Amino acid sequence: MDRRTRVLEKVSDQSFVRSLNKASIVDLIRQAPGGISRAELAESLDVSRTTVSAIVNDLLAEHLVLERGAGPSRGGRRPIVLEINPDAGRVVGVDLGASHLTVLVADLNGHVLVAAEEPLEIAAGPEPCLRATEALVADTLARAGSHWEAVRALGVAVPGPVIAEHGLVSAPPIMPGWDGYPIRAELAARWQRPTSLDNDADLGALGEWTFGAGQGANHLAYIKIGTGIGCGLLLDGRIYRGVLGTAGEIGHVTVAEGGPPCTCGNYGCLEAVAGGRAIAQRADLAVKAGQRTRLVQKAALEPLTTAAVAQAALEGDVVAQQLLADAGRHIGSALASLINLLNPDRIVLGGGVTKAGSYLLEPLQQAIEDHAMRPSRQAVQVVLAQLGRRSVAMGAVAQALAQTFQQAVTRPPG
Ligand SMILES: [Zn+2]
Repeated sequence: MDRRTRVLEKVSDQSFVRSLNKASIVDLIRQAPGGISRAELAESLDVSRTTVSAIVNDLLAEHLVLERGAGPSRGGRRPIVLEINPDAGRVVGVDLGASHLTVLVADLNGHVLVAAEEPLEIAAGPEPCLRATEALVADTLARAGSHWEAVRALGVAVPGPVIAEHGLVSAPPIMPGWDGYPIRAELAARWQRPTSLDNDADLGALGEWTFGAGQGANHLAYIKIGTGIGCGLLLDGRIYRGVLGTAGEIGHVTVAEGGPPCTCGNYGCLEAVAGGRAIAQRADLAVKAGQRTRLVQKAALEPLTTAAVAQAALEGDVVAQQLLADAGRHIGSALASLINLLNPDRIVLGGGVTKAGSYLLEPLQQAIEDHAMRPSRQAVQVVLAQLGRRSVAMGAVAQALAQTFQQAVTRPPG
């Protein structure tokens, strides 16, 4: 007997039972790509058709759901199927990154109508960043031909540890000036719409799980290998946040005792050894140490980046190849620990550094092979993210959709 069934038996509050059933029906309709009939809903939930019909009528009256007469027949008349009405509103996903701002306007199926991106320095602090966010959201909605009245909810991602309950970040290493600032309350006051705030890696996990390479997984870890290294965990299909909301900081696992200093104040963290910033710093050191490498010419033109190291590796530069292999091995052995601890079924690798390709990814896979225990290793698929630069912003869209339907199902009847 599953948990929902037990709940239904124990509670006598009819409106609560109705709200639970409504939430389940909305979930099933959203998850059925070709639509789902009333009979299938009743069967899946083990409730009467009368109960299903009453709730579906509410959803039809709210225009959140549409009827379509094209379901696959089971021998008799083709049943009418129910689908989400994509045009019953709009949702907005916002990704406030370390150095970029991305805004997506989507319909209620999560299809992106208009996307916008511009440079932004998160280190400039809350005032200018939130003003820029507000302006880009208004501009993107206008380009999508949408009015504010159509917006049902907004989801926002930030690159710091989010205390979800309070809608703020606590001691964020790369967000100076944001510590304790009431981000969610401030944005919700400006927008007058339900607004959520989450960590970027958590939303990357949710984005890939809902729309990308994580679809169908039950226990997923999304690893964002960029300037730093972040990780979002989705266990049993829910974002796992820990007590405060700071779970998943794999970038700050110590991998080299007495190693290089990290942005978090510690030494030898994975991020300080194998993140994008660390790869560029190590490349710089190799040049300064007088090693024979193409990086010398590249460093003369502009400050070295992971992309420049990856390019040199492709051109056959052994020093660059070695730098990427070292980073890949460190990340892979940290992932082996994560696999041993959590036994996930999918690991999704995202972030700009994954573009370095096989010079990084093959040693990473090899380290997982070498260090993860066999049953857990055999149970996990390690794949590349499918949504590219949009994993996080699509997670913000998914969170806004969840809020939209949650609100719809808990709204008092009448
Ligand atoms: Zn650290």
